[in-house]
Amino acid sequence: MSPHALNTYDGRPGFSCANCAAVIALQDELISKAFQGRDGRGYLTHSATNVRIGSKEDRALMTGVHTVADVFCVGCGDRVGWYYYKASDQSQKYKEGKYLLERERLIKENAWSLDE
Ligand SMILES: [Zn+2]
Repeated sequence: MSPHALNTYDGRPGFSCANCAAVIALQDELISKAFQGRDGRGYLTHSATNVRIGSKEDRALMTGVHTVADVFCVGCGDRVGWYYYKASDQSQKYKEGKYLLERERLIKENAWSLDE
């Protein structure tokens, strides 16, 4: 797929795929930077774009069992994080319908106003 066919968001601050530079999420969609991904730190976001969601599975995470699906960049096919379908623990329900994006798989684009 040509990168020009992907959503670009007109230079707004966001995360792009570290491998192919497709836009994955906007800074505005960021909920928390203090999450643990599979390979290191992760970001919790309200939405993601230019991604494909893989098959659902139950995964035991530090905060309990969650029904998740891996999320892949449509530009290059790399795994960039996962999507939370369901959390078993009541205190984790706020994650449902959100994305966990791996910091190592993303680069920041444009004028970020938030500190690292
Ligand atoms: Zn990519």
